Amino acid sequence: MNIQGLYNKRPIVIAGPCSAETEEQVLAIAHDLKEQQIDLYRAGIWKPRTRPNSFEGVGSVGLKWLRRVKEETGLKTTTEVANKTHVEECLYHNIDALWIGARTTVNPFSVQEIADALKGVDIPVMVKNPINPDLGLWIGAIERIYKAGITKIAAIHRGFASYGEKYYRNKPMWQIPIELKRQFPDLQIICDNSHICGRRDILKDVAQQAMDLKYDGLMTEVHSNPDEAWSDAKQQITPEVFKTLMDGLTYRSDEAGKVLTSAELDSVRAKIDKLDSQLLKVLEERMKLVDEIGRYKKAHNIEILQPNRWSEILDKSIEKGEKKGLSKEFINTLLRAVHQESINHQQKIMSE
Ligand code: PEP
Ligand code: MN
Repeated sequence: MNIQGLYNKRPIVIAGPCSAETEEQVLAIAHDLKEQQIDLYRAGIWKPRTRPNSFEGVGSVGLKWLRRVKEETGLKTTTEVANKTHVEECLYHNIDALWIGARTTVNPFSVQEIADALKGVDIPVMVKNPINPDLGLWIGAIERIYKAGITKIAAIHRGFASYGEKYYRNKPMWQIPIELKRQFPDLQIICDNSHICGRRDILKDVAQQAMDLKYDGLMTEVHSNPDEAWSDAKQQITPEVFKTLMDGLTYRSDEAGKVLTSAELDSVRAKIDKLDSQLLKVLEERMKLVDEIGRYKKAHNIEILQPNRWSEILDKSIEKGEKKGLSKEFINTLLRAVHQESINHQQKIMSE
């Protein structure tokens, strides 16, 4: 894919309310944000809500308000589209960029319908990650838009739903966007810290993390009176707080020399590479022992999974890991992967 990117500046800043509520509200926030050099003014017109009976957006009338925003402030505008009619109406009202929401990215039929409606049009499109942690669906949606002839595409990382999660509204699972960037180095990635956090107190931390991971931009929900917002009240911030957040971000460079000299950096990297090789060697040796046990289990007709032994390994390692400054979540993920590989090895032996 030869994706051009939305803008040549970094960070690309997108801000505005979760939802357009009234004409006055949309205009007031836009006027407050005008001075803050944002690249796009966002406001949801059609709101895909998880449960019925919540505010589902003002609908098409909001497009006229966004047009007024543009006339009065000069700000470019963006809104969410979920079907062909939305796309057609946005194009008719000269919306400057579109985004596809997380609940739409999961559905290839809907994404294809949007892609078909975009054929022959040149408008930037941002594709949010799907609700579930499925990189294939995210890539698939981007490819459908790209195949429609759209060249200015960005991905928006808004986190992934997970049952029982409390800290984040949507877990960031940074490895997924990192892998997306690895596969598509030219694709710009924007962090929607508002929907990741779902709360105000950690918006800045997540924005900073995104900048440290070399993200290209931020999308943040801004409202004049967040507590009274008709949707996502808990995560929206005032234009003043937004300004403080943006002013407080540190943009680091990847040029060696800013933090360490490049020789120093190279030597630390060499040590890391060496440790990574050792890690692989250790895993290779572990799998050899696993194979040995596998052959024993086969000979004596013993089941592969020994739940008590597995729980014991997990508990002990979490305890040891935490003492070494490794998070419980990391140890869990690592050991589960190692355990699964061990099971795969033994299953292979059993079937031989
Ligand atoms: C939004 O941006 O207001 C929105 C509905 O986001 P998401 O699709 O990420 O839930
Ligand atoms: Mn929202």
